[in-house]
Amino acid sequence: MITGQCDCGGVHFTIAQMRETVTYCHCSQCRKMSGHVLALTRAQSKDITFQSDDTLRWYRSSDEARRGFCGACGSTLFFQPIGADHYGIAAGCLEAPTGLTPGKHIFIDSKGDYYPLPTDAVLFDGYDTPHHQGD
Ligand SMILES: [Zn+2]
Ligand SMILES: [Zn+2]
Repeated sequence: MITGQCDCGGVHFTIAQMRETVTYCHCSQCRKMSGHVLALTRAQSKDITFQSDDTLRWYRSSDEARRGFCGACGSTLFFQPIGADHYGIAAGCLEAPTGLTPGKHIFIDSKGDYYPLPTDAVLFDGYDTPHHQGD
């Protein structure tokens, strides 16, 4: 059982089962809302139990998705495609040991200019177009 919470504890949850890899999203929306690259794992909605969601707020970030955050402390918590039965979960809010391992980097085509490209990972432009360095 994995435990997650925001910094103030207003949102507190447990996860029975989740994806074992972390996806790093470099898109401008994720960078704005998280402060940098957003690292997400994923779990089915039925596998997430909220002990507290008093301060959980949702922001409709596009026609396709909404983002969950704590309205009290501002922690980035969730990403959810509209109508999906799963949650993307910000890896930073999970308590160690998470058992998570690094996965792919996506939206490299819109990464920030203030940090280098990862050199040890699979890179994609957009969600799933292989990124060719030097193009
Ligand atoms: Zn909070
Ligand atoms: Zn993103």
